[in-house]
Amino acid sequence: MHPGPRPSIVAFALSLFAGACAATCLAALAPQAVGQALPLARNPVAPEELRLVVDAGLRLERRAGTVDLGLDATAARFDAAGRLWFERSLDDGRVELARESWVLDLGASAPRRPSSGETAPPRSAQPSAPRSAFGAPHRICIDPGHGGADPGAVGNGLFEEAVVLDVALRLRDLLDLDSADPLGGSSWTLLLTRSTDASVSLAQRCDLANAFGADRFVSIHANAFSDPQANGTETYSYLNGTTAAALRERIQARMLQAWNTTDRGVKTAGFYVLVNTAMPATLSELAFISNPSDAQLLGSSLARANAARAHLYALQEHFGATPHAPAAGTAFCFGTVATCPCGNAGQGGAGCANSANALGAKLRADGYPFLAADTLSLSCSGLPATTVVLFFQGTATSAGGAGTVFGDGLRCAAGTVLRLGTRQATFGSATLGGPGEVRVSTSGAVPAAGGLRHYQAWYRNAASYCTASTFNLSNGVSVVWRP
Ligand SMILES: [Zn+2]
Repeated sequence: MHPGPRPSIVAFALSLFAGACAATCLAALAPQAVGQALPLARNPVAPEELRLVVDAGLRLERRAGTVDLGLDATAARFDAAGRLWFERSLDDGRVELARESWVLDLGASAPRRPSSGETAPPRSAQPSAPRSAFGAPHRICIDPGHGGADPGAVGNGLFEEAVVLDVALRLRDLLDLDSADPLGGSSWTLLLTRSTDASVSLAQRCDLANAFGADRFVSIHANAFSDPQANGTETYSYLNGTTAAALRERIQARMLQAWNTTDRGVKTAGFYVLVNTAMPATLSELAFISNPSDAQLLGSSLARANAARAHLYALQEHFGATPHAPAAGTAFCFGTVATCPCGNAGQGGAGCANSANALGAKLRADGYPFLAADTLSLSCSGLPATTVVLFFQGTATSAGGAGTVFGDGLRCAAGTVLRLGTRQATFGSATLGGPGEVRVSTSGAVPAAGGLRHYQAWYRNAASYCTASTFNLSNGVSVVWRP
């Protein structure tokens, strides 16, 4: 009736399927950049540095070479003799079951168990980078639950580890786009505890967040229960009445708005990552993977993109910004006095001025630049009232992004050029890729692996304006397509 956390016996049984999952359920996800290293400590008696490498675990860097201490190694510290002590943490996916002490002697190539009589130095407080100052980017640690040997919950053909990783990567992409979009006003510095199907222990997730000096820790999970009728969304913090609880309430409200799932409410729990992170931490249970109706949402790439956006909105609100869907691309190639024909500069990030609008025509991209959930649209405003507009795509930029003179404007997108479609402007605006239309990634033949593409709008304009040409162009917009 009231589903609780999965029993550890289920996690153990499911871990037997981890190998099969790694080969199949993550095949659609492209490998992400890995290896971001966080320095944790310097050996006081030797030129060695301890680093935590995202997706690759704890390692000691020496002049003579690197010693890998393992993915599950945690709580590492040097003693006065320069020996490195650390612990290996065993957990069931949420709760720590046991810890083992290990020691690496000076110059040794592999760690060993301590002999009887040897005692580890006390565990000091977690190392922590300085917190971000007021006005600096918010530092967010995104924690996709499970991964690697631990697939998490499994149901309806879905693996929790893959579902939550996909949501986390989309959240990362949206936060990056938000940082690049000056209209939103929010800026984010991000760390993912994993960006691939990697095994990362609970203790190590906390170490990563603490070493990163995160302002907030956002863990993303999917729920499961033996009764398939159990369904809905719930969001956790360790305690009520805290900063974490305030963020938890925003996430819960935005998730319900995005998915219209059953409201199971906001809750408290002593989950390992909520207790052992040094900053306000939340844990989202998006929906039940064991419920057929919830699983349809968890399995839909568009729904997962909306879940990511719900978390984006919650974070924006939590930090005092107005919820803002960031522009999907980065504008470039603006019309200036120096570059536009006849000195007809545009303004405000647009192309060159035209006969109807001294500000020039402005192109922007909205929606999700995700191939699996492409909702990208290209909108051009500031056009002559009823002109014909041709949207096109290039694989490169012209003149390093500055553009080259073309008609009454600048040509910004170059390389292999594809015409995406023409539209008739109404009231000086036109859109390509609206609801129900062919997707931009389809007409642009963007490969399955994604990649960088550049967009621009060409439009008819009066022959009597500036040069004898009868056309002008907008600014360019660069879009990074993700799988
Ligand atoms: Zn989980």
